[in-house]
This record gives sequence, structure tokens and C-alpha cells, in this order.
Amino acid sequence: MAMETPREREIAAEDSIKVVCRFRPLNDSEEKAGSKFIVKFPSGGDENCISIGGKVYLFDKVFKPNATQDKVYNEAAKSIVTDVLAGYNGTIFAYGQTSSGKTHTMEGVIGDPNKQGIIPRIVNDIFNHIYGMEENLEFHIKVSYFEIYMDKIRDLLDVSKVNLSVHEDKNRVPFVKGATERFVSSPEEVFEVIEEGKSNRHIAVTNMNEHSSRSHSVFLINVKQENLENQKKLSGKLYLVDLAGSEKVSKTGAEGTVLDEAKNINKSLSALGNVISALADGNKTHIPYRDSKLTRILQESLGGNARTTIIICCSPASFNESETKSTLDFGKRAKTIKNVVCVNEELTAEEWKRRYEREKEKVARWKGKVDKLESELSRWRQGETVKPEEQVNLIEGPDVTTPITASVEGKLDDSPMPATPGGGLMIGSLSNEERQKLEEERERLYQQLDDKDEEINQQSQYVEKLKEQMEEQEELIASARRDYEQLQQEMNRIQQENESAKEEVKEVLQALEELAVNYDQKSQEVELKNKEQESMTEELLAKQVTLNNTASELQQLRDMSAHQRKRIAEMLANFLKDLGEIGVAIGGESNENLKIAPPESNGKLEEEFTVARLFISKMKSEVKNLVQRCQGLESFQVDCNKKVSEYEKDLAECRLLISQHEARMQTLTESMKEAETRKRALEEDVDALREECAKLKAAEQVQAVTNKEKAEEKEAATKMRVALEEQMDQLRDAHQKQVAALRDELSEKQELISELKDLNQKFTLAHQQMQADYERLKQEEANKSVKLQELMLLNERREQARKDLKGLEDTVAKELQTLHNLRKLFVQDLQTRIKKTINAEDNEDDGGSLAQKQKISFLENNLDQLTKVHKQLVRDNADLRCELPKLEKRLRATMERVKALETALRDAKEGAMRDRKRYQYEVDRIKEAVRQKNLARRGPSAQIAKPIRAGQHHLSNVNAIRTGNRENECKNAFIDENKRIPAALMYNGYA
Ligand code: ADP
Ligand code: MG
Repeated sequence: MAMETPREREIAAEDSIKVVCRFRPLNDSEEKAGSKFIVKFPSGGDENCISIGGKVYLFDKVFKPNATQDKVYNEAAKSIVTDVLAGYNGTIFAYGQTSSGKTHTMEGVIGDPNKQGIIPRIVNDIFNHIYGMEENLEFHIKVSYFEIYMDKIRDLLDVSKVNLSVHEDKNRVPFVKGATERFVSSPEEVFEVIEEGKSNRHIAVTNMNEHSSRSHSVFLINVKQENLENQKKLSGKLYLVDLAGSEKVSKTGAEGTVLDEAKNINKSLSALGNVISALADGNKTHIPYRDSKLTRILQESLGGNARTTIIICCSPASFNESETKSTLDFGKRAKTIKNVVCVNEELTAEEWKRRYEREKEKVARWKGKVDKLESELSRWRQGETVKPEEQVNLIEGPDVTTPITASVEGKLDDSPMPATPGGGLMIGSLSNEERQKLEEERERLYQQLDDKDEEINQQSQYVEKLKEQMEEQEELIASARRDYEQLQQEMNRIQQENESAKEEVKEVLQALEELAVNYDQKSQEVELKNKEQESMTEELLAKQVTLNNTASELQQLRDMSAHQRKRIAEMLANFLKDLGEIGVAIGGESNENLKIAPPESNGKLEEEFTVARLFISKMKSEVKNLVQRCQGLESFQVDCNKKVSEYEKDLAECRLLISQHEARMQTLTESMKEAETRKRALEEDVDALREECAKLKAAEQVQAVTNKEKAEEKEAATKMRVALEEQMDQLRDAHQKQVAALRDELSEKQELISELKDLNQKFTLAHQQMQADYERLKQEEANKSVKLQELMLLNERREQARKDLKGLEDTVAKELQTLHNLRKLFVQDLQTRIKKTINAEDNEDDGGSLAQKQKISFLENNLDQLTKVHKQLVRDNADLRCELPKLEKRLRATMERVKALETALRDAKEGAMRDRKRYQYEVDRIKEAVRQKNLARRGPSAQIAKPIRAGQHHLSNVNAIRTGNRENECKNAFIDENKRIPAALMYNGYA
């Protein structure tokens, strides 16, 4: 109508859902598998259609695989930022099969300027916009992050909230009740929240990839703004949804629980499909939003009050063709949906009044029109024809948008009108009362459903919390018990150590005491012994003097014995010399070596004797050896002689043979000579005959001249000639035959001769050979005999040595015996001598010497005893001295051990103290945690909002706020203060 302001038209407008399509490039595995790129993009500027398998799809925008994140954002999502900041609701969700690029498109790599996706770009843009807006606007931004898995909503910012429910607010707009909301004042804070949510998501599941492909993640940004000048308030909600993979179950071959999950996911996705189909149909009255939580949450985004963009993500590979097609079909259906978009404005009382007036006016207008129409209708009914000029102008009537406005305003007024657009118009066929009833019934049931949901959620949260608490308590108890046990063990150990140390110390002390006593005793003994020793030494000195005297006497005796020994030695030497001579007479050179060192020293009688015996035995064995060798040599000689005679016989035979051959050769040469002479004679005969022949020829010639004369003679002559010729021929033949025979014989003889010559040569050679052989054999024999001799010698020597050794043993034994005898003799001799001298002395002084002797023997005895005692004492002393350092060492070691034990005790005590402290600290900490838990359970504490002021960059945010009004300044100061408070205390939901 003419009176409506353009601003009102802005409030509500129909807007179709924007659907863009993005194709990712072929990935490595697809390229490896040889998948083909099956999508065709039209050439030219058109970037809104594609064809696949001949079928063409039209969208608002189509992104080719090489489209950058920046391009996608700018062309598909950027406009939503201004919408949200202008108070509209917005939704962007990505639909497509797993690994088609949904997460890549929505999130990308946060923080990477090129690879970051829509969410980080939007967040940055929202804040940049705010910083660039008027200064009198104040923004409150809060975000929530949750996922829908198996149709359960799990809060990603508070892991204890595992099953949140969906409720409707007073405007009948569904929202997730109890979801944690975080106030944020900068993009960094938003990213921190996203990080936290993602890490919580990772902690909760084992296989993140699988999980993320089976769950929907929803990031919600709620922007509220207030104009500080006119108190106008706007709010916009932006849902950013990364849906689960839209592929069919069969493709992944899921089983068991996995299949359940897939069913659930597919259930929510098929619910989404159903909702979209119902919306696309346009005739359906009931839209099944309630079939799943996903569709409940997206209720406003699909056919409600929101600017929605669906990003269809597809794979271009031939392998995924069917999935890609179904995805594209989904997008095509969604494209037809129309949303009714309006600004979420909180109106002031005046505004409401104004609107009320306006509506009243409108109603009056409508009423007037209805009245006019009614009168026109009655005129028609009465059969009157109303002229066109008088007819009510139907086209001109109240604005077409009015019903929509009404519906929107109905929402704002909290009227019980259904949220579904067009729903109000369609229900018109039912009776009003019935409709009312049904509506109420449905309302009641929904309410109940929500309540039950809420209850379930609360109960499950409570159970979860209790479980956690219980686990913590159990852990606490277990750790306390462990600590206690450890401490007990430690204590026991220390006590044991202490006791053992005590015992050790006792032992050591005892040992020390014993040692001290021993030491005293020993020192006393030593003193005593020392004294005794002194007296003894005195006595000893006296004795020494007497001893010296006797010693001198002994010396004299010794001299005498030496003299005798010398004499014996001389005798021995003579004897040895004789022996040596014998040796020379008998033995060879080998024995001479033995005689090289004749025993010249006079003093060593025994040695000499031994040496002499050795010589003798050696000589004996040598003689034996020689005899044996001689025998061996003789036998060998006989053998050799035999051999030589054999060889000689052979030689004689050979010679005979040679002479025979020589004789034969001679006869042969003789026969040769004979043959030669015969040959010569025959040749002479031939010559004579030739001569005769020549003569005859001459005669013939002569006769030929005289032939004519004497024809008869001629005839006779011819006859004779013939006869002669015949005779000649015969003769020649015989002669030739003879010559041939002779020649044959000659050659035979020649051959024979050569053969014989060869034979002769052979024989001479054989002879020579044999001669050489003989020589060689002789040589060999000689060598062998030499070797044999050597070996025999060696053997003999070995034998000899063995015998020598035996002999030596014998001689040594004998020698010893003789030595013993000799000594006996010598001693006897000495005794007799001494007796003699004593007797001589006795004759001089009988009694005195006896007494002296007795005295000497007594003294000697005494001396012996004394020396023994002295030795014993010295030994004892030495032993004691040896023992002393050992004992000292032991004492020192014990002292050290005692010290070490003391330090260990101290350490253990300290450790125990530390453990106790730690235990105390742990107990305190747990108590604190429990207290806080209890506090938290009592209900969420008040949330402090962090307002952001437009026109300022967030870095200078605090200063900017300080320049604002005092109230805000205080609030902000408080928030800054609160920033230092642990996060758990800070964000406990939004009251
Ligand atoms: P979804 O979330 O649909 O399961 P992802 O976003 O995780 O799939 O993508 C799967 C893989 O493909 C990722 O490694 C991603 O980096 C890559 N990818 C997806 N879209 C693109 C694209 N447009 N350009 C390059 N790589 C992409
Ligand atoms: Mg993903």
C-alpha cells in the first residue's frame, strides 16, 4: 500500500536458497586407479552449469577444481557476513560424500592464508566489518561448537554434555539448549575455541577420520548488536555446518555398530533430504523437521528465516559418478526452496505502538474494503449488474506481502501460528476449531517431547558427572593407597636398615674393644719380651765369645781336612787322567769333548768322581755303539758286494753281446766287399762284351761293304750274326739278371749293415747307459751308506744318551752313596783326630777341659733355646704388626659404613617428609577440585559478556572501550581482570 514505508519491505522478503557446487581435483588414489574426469564445464563465461553424463545441472555458481579457497569464499559466502551483521540469520552448510572436500571448504587449514576455508575467513571478516562500523554500535559475539553423532548432540566445548536437546525459544525458533556459549572478542579467541573443540573431538574418538565422516559438526556464531544511541537491538545467528558423508552404506561395506552409525547418519541425512523434498514440493503441509536433530537445528535455515547457502561438494571421478549425481540432485531440489527472510529486531515500546497503530489502520482499511465488497456481492447476488467503474478494485487491494508480514510479525508477537511458511494458508481447508485443537494438541506433545528430551539430557549429564566423580575418587583412593603402601614400605625398609646399622655398630664397637684389649696385652708381652731379649743378648754376647774360641778351633780342623781333601783330589785327578787316556785309546773324537774339561779344582772331590764315572759309563756305551755300527757296516758291505758282482755279470754279458755283434759286423763288411768285387768283375765282363759287340758291329759294317761280293758269306754271316746276337742277348740278359740280383743283394746287405750299425749303436748306448746307471747306483749306494751310517750314528747316540742317562742315574745314586760313605769316613776321621787332640790335651789338663766341654754343651743348648725364643718373639711381633693395619682398616671401614647409614637414614627421612608433603598437596588439590565440581553442579554461574565496540580494531579495543560510557568501562575492566581466571570458571554457559 502507498502508506507502507520502504523499510518495512526490507524486513521480510522471500529469498531462495543459494546452492553452489564445488568440484575438487582428482586425488592421488583416483588418479592411480585410473578414474576418469567425467564432469564437463561449459566453455565461455557461464560459471553456473555443468553436465555429467549428458545431464545438465544449473546452480547459482559452479566452482571448477582449480578454484581457490579465496574465490569460493568471495563468491559463495562473503555476502553472508553483511547479512548477519545486519540482523539476518545465515546458514552455510556443506553437503557431499566423504572426502569430497567438505571440511576443506568449510575449515581448510586454519591460519594458512591460502588454504583456510570459509569459517576462518568469515570470522576474520565479521571482526573486520565490526571494526569498520559506526562507533555507537556495541557487539556481543558468542560462539558454540557441537557435533551430532548417532542423533545425539555432543557439546565440543564441554565433554560432559553428551546428549543435548533441541528446544524452541519464545519465537518458536529451535535452539540447542544447554550448549556451551563462549563470548569472544577477537578472531584469535574464536580460533582458540575451534581448536579446543577439535581437540575434544579427537580425545573422544579413536579413529578421527571415520568419526568425522559419520558426524555433523556445527559451529554457531551469534552476533548481537545494540545501537547505544537509540537502543535498537539486532541479532543474527550464523550456522556453519560440515555435514557427514552423504554416501550410501553399501559402498563402505560397513558392519555391526558401524552400520548402526551409518544408518543413524543416513537417517539424519535422509531426514534432511525429506525436509528439502517436502519444501521443494510446495504443496506439503507438514515438513518433517522433527525427524532428526539435524533438521530441527536447520529448521530456520530451510524454509525459515535465514539466508542459506548450500555448498555441494563433489568428486569428478568416474568411480564416484552415482554419488556425485545424487549429490547434484540434492542440490537441484534444494535450489527450489524459498526462505522468508527478515531482520531479527527487538522493538522498543514506541516502535511497537507505532506498529500497532499502523496495523489498526490497516485493519480498518481492510474492513472498509470488505464492506465495499460485501455490498458489491449483495448487488451481484440480487441480479444487479455492477458497472465496472463501480466494482471494487481487487488488484489495488492491500499489499501482497501482507500475509507474509503477518506471519513474520506473528512470530515476533509469539502468536501460535505455525513456523512453516504457507502452513497457515494450507490449513485453511480444516475447520477453525479442529485446526485449533490439533494445533494445541501438537503443541502440547512437542512441549512434552522437549521436556522429556531435556530431562534425559540432564539425567545423562548428571550420570556422566557422577561417573567422572566416582572415577576421580577411585583414582584418588588408589593413589592414596599406593602412596601409603609405598611409604609403609619405605618406613619398613628404613627401620630394617636402621636396625641392621645399629647391630653393625654394636659389632664394630665390640670388635674395637676386643682389639684394644688385645693390643694392650700384646704390647705388654712385647715389652716383656724386649726385656728378656735384652738379657738374652747380653748372655748371647758372652756365649758369642766362647763360640768364637771354638770356632777358631774348628777352623784349624777345617784346614786340616782341606789338606786331606786336596790330596784326595790329586789322587782322583791322576785316576781321571788315566781314565782319559783309556778313553782316548777307545773312543773316537766324540769322547774327546768330554775330556776337554778335566777336573782341575782340587776342592770338589765328589764332583770329580762323578764326572769320572760319567766318563766311564759314556765310554762304555760308546764302545758298544761302535761295535754295533761295525756289525751294521759289515752286513751292508756284504750286500753291496753282492750287488756289485751282479752288476759285473750283467756287464760281462753285455760285452759278450757287443763282441758278437762286432764279429757279425765284420762278416757283413767282408761279404760286402766280396759283393763289390763280384760286381766289379761282372762290370768288367759287361765292358768286355760291349767291346766285343762293338768289334762285331765294325766287322758287320766291313762285311756289309763286302756283302755284295759275298752273299753267301753274307747269309752265313747274318745267320751267325743272328746266332751271335741271340747269344749276346742271352748273355746280356743273364748279365742283367746277375747285376740285378747283385744289386738286390747289395741293397739287402746295405740294409743289414745299417740295421746292424743301429743295433750296435743301441747296444753301445745301452752299455753307456748301464755304465752310467752303475755309476749312479754306486753313488747312491755310497750316499745311502753314508746316510745309514749317519742314522746309525744318530740312533747310537740316542741309545747312548739313554744309556748315559741311566748310567748317570746309577752313578749319581752310587755317587751319593759313596759321598755318604766318604762323609762318614771323613767324620770318623775328624772325630778320631779330635779325640786324638783332646786326648793329647787331656793328658795336659784333664778335669778343666771336661768341665769346659760340659759348659760349652750347656751353653750351646742355652743358646739354641734362646735363639728359638728370640725367633718366636720376633715372629709374634711381626704378626702383630701385620694385624694392626688390618684392624685399623676394618675400624675405618666400619666408621664409614656408620656414616653412610646415617646419611641414608637422613635421606629416607627427608624423602618421607617430601612424600607426605606431596600427598598433602595432592589431597588439597583433589579437595579443591571436588569443591569446584560441587560448585559447578550447583548450576552455571553468571556469564560475563565481552562487548566489542564497532569502529575500533580489537587490539586497541580496551582503550576504545575506556573512552565509552563509564558503565562499559567498569564492565570491561572486570572482564580483563577475569581473563586471568581459569577457563573452567570463566565459561559456564550463558544465563
Ligand atoms: P570431506 O570433509 O568431504 O570428507 P575433505 O575436506 O577432508 O573431505 O577432503 C579430502 C581430501 O581432499 C583432503 O586431503 C583435502 O585437502 C583434499 N581436497 C578437497 N577439496 C580440495 C580442493 N578443492 N583442492 C585441493 N584439495 C582438496
Ligand atoms: Mg570432513
